[in-house]
Amino acid sequence: MARPCSITTGAVMGINKLLDGKALASELRAEMATEVRNAVAAGARPPGLAVILVGDDAASQVYVRNKQRACAEVGIVSVPFLLPVDTSEAKLQALIADLNGRPDIDGILLQLPLPEGLDSRACLDAIAADKDVDGFHPANMGKLALGLPGFAPCTPLGVLELLKRNNIELDGKKAVIVGRSNIVGKPLAMLLGGKDANATVTLCHSGTRNLKEECLKADILLLAVGRPKAITADMIPDGCVVVDIGVNRLPDGLCGDVDFEGACAKASAITPVPGGVGPMTIAMLLANTLKSWRERLAQEKG
Ligand code: NAP
Repeated sequence: MARPCSITTGAVMGINKLLDGKALASELRAEMATEVRNAVAAGARPPGLAVILVGDDAASQVYVRNKQRACAEVGIVSVPFLLPVDTSEAKLQALIADLNGRPDIDGILLQLPLPEGLDSRACLDAIAADKDVDGFHPANMGKLALGLPGFAPCTPLGVLELLKRNNIELDGKKAVIVGRSNIVGKPLAMLLGGKDANATVTLCHSGTRNLKEECLKADILLLAVGRPKAITADMIPDGCVVVDIGVNRLPDGLCGDVDFEGACAKASAITPVPGGVGPMTIAMLLANTLKSWRERLAQEKG
């Protein structure tokens, strides 16, 4: 069974704060459930999320089940579309076009990775930007870059919410992100470096010359590398806040990108893996769906 990397060891080593995403996500789901319950009791239609899964990838099936369970808890109607592995791109695009036009659907989630032969980018781009609750559409990425309202990707949003709700100061702090993917590192850099968070951001990647030197400048170190324990204790400055986004499967369970036990001796606060950023990602998918639903309800009224 998946287990956190030695949380107890961290506590023994005197870490100040464990950033508990699991508990916070549960609180957020309860808040969202209250909002939905009240609105539905007042006559509104419930929020709707279409969940498309193509093929039988085992990990994707687990992710989809977890997302559907979270939807149910909040009162979001999740509408599953489980398509066979040999689904043609034309058929998938036709389904997306249909969902784009459905008034009961506020968000469309296309679970990645898609089976070989399907163009993920083209399929994601086919989702209407105002139903793109994953925040992967170029229009939403563009809005994020411009500081305009839209949907931001769920993992970076979840990181920000986790930091804010734990009263971690971002304004004027040095945030060092390792990893520049389109779904995590890049949008996270835009969010943290935007006017709201107001951090000063360094974005590292495989071409970064001296990663350790960059990491040691951080007030907040955020890791999205996808390599188990790639960040060792000697790369973490004393008192730093460590946000471990990495999820790596090892024979004895899940593990992040940070050597958790080593990091606990240095960090003032740290996320566990699992139980840190992962649950916040799902909570933000629900939050984005509710945001779309609210906007759509307002349009339907007015
Ligand atoms: P990705 O697309 O593979 O990107 C990895 C990034 O790490 C790339 O930018 C790569 O640099 C950089 N990198 C790789 N090796 C490096 C090194 N030695 N030094 C410095 N940078 C290095 O991965 P991703 O999709 O962003 O995911 C990253 C991790 O986060 C994975 O473990 C994934 O499972 C996890 N994740 C978790 C959640 C969650 O909800 N908790 C959500 C999404 C992803 P280049 O760009 O130069 O190749």
